[in-house]
Amino acid sequence: MSTQIPKTIKAIQVDKVGGPEVNVLREIPTPVPKDNEVLIKVQWSGVNYIDNYFRSGLYPAKFPYTVGQDAVGTLVSAPRGFAIKEGTRVFTTAGNAFAEYLVAPTDRVAVLPDEIDAKDGVSIATQGLTALYLLKESYAVKKGDWVLNRSAAGGVGLILTQIAKYLGVNVIATVSSAEKAEIAKKSGADHVLLSTDPSETNVKKILELTGGEGVHAAYDGVGKDTFEENFEVVRRKGTIVTYGNASGAVPPFPVLKLSSKALKVTRPTLFAIVKTQAEWDEYTSELIDITKKAKINYAVHKVYGFTAEDVAQAQKDIQGRGTAGKLLIKVSE
Ligand code: NDP
Repeated sequence: MSTQIPKTIKAIQVDKVGGPEVNVLREIPTPVPKDNEVLIKVQWSGVNYIDNYFRSGLYPAKFPYTVGQDAVGTLVSAPRGFAIKEGTRVFTTAGNAFAEYLVAPTDRVAVLPDEIDAKDGVSIATQGLTALYLLKESYAVKKGDWVLNRSAAGGVGLILTQIAKYLGVNVIATVSSAEKAEIAKKSGADHVLLSTDPSETNVKKILELTGGEGVHAAYDGVGKDTFEENFEVVRRKGTIVTYGNASGAVPPFPVLKLSSKALKVTRPTLFAIVKTQAEWDEYTSELIDITKKAKINYAVHKVYGFTAEDVAQAQKDIQGRGTAGKLLIKVSE
């Protein structure tokens, strides 16, 4: 390939724990791939709620680090014999994504088919793969099941509803505003509840909707604020899937709490579920397939520029609960 790889690149980095203002744009040496890695020229990166956890200190980080989880770009160099040809448009969840070039392990790169928009490829990466594994593994849904999808207008939430509907599942969604309720409804949710309504009201509605039984699974990325309510709305032998901390981390709880309804609680992460090459290949190809067949709408909330100010604003926006769908950073043409 004839791409001229520069000696230095621009990257958004964080040097210390803090608020969105600690993001800085700086020039760093171009990362050099090892034998089992590829180099990607980044076009689009995605903002994910997890960016806040690393920056705020909730999740441990080694400073300085380059911000960002996922990207779509062009493969510019790969080890000899690598299955994907240089010059191919790819997506990755390798991290270090708010940078003009990133290095990714060979088992974290997948081809983005021509018929899928580059921006959608960013959503397919972290948020799409998360929605798919939640429905396939954390609680493996069956046709006709009832599930609760919290924050259903968010990045993961909007995709989760669409895949669940494609699989024949009944979806009860929660969101925090009437505007988001419209968006959740459009994505296919069967019933949408406002999380701002009293908890007793919503618990009653969920039980009514499910014939008094409760949902088979609650998918909850909100965390602390909603964890307790899940015990009331999940049916006997049901599953609470707590997969995020948007409102704060879930505090410890006594295991005996599970016994009266023989409940299961799981706390998965994408990195622990989709880990091996085989898992990556299986999940990425299945999601591409579902994307085409179910015509998944990877809604874009807003496109932000590749500056420290824009990244800080994007992180403020996603934390401010005013966003619906994906927040994108346009890194290069
Ligand atoms: P979202 O676009 O969903 O944004 C977060 C949403 O959380 C907000 O829109 C808001 O929706 C809701 N929320 C509820 N309480 C709060 C609060 N106190 N402050 C801010 N937001 C709140 O983000 P993502 O799609 O990137 O991530 C969604 C969740 O999934 C996050 O918790 C994230 O950490 C988790 N995640 C987990 C993964 C895993 O593998 N475990 C992988 C990827 C994401 P509303 O206002 O409608 O309540």
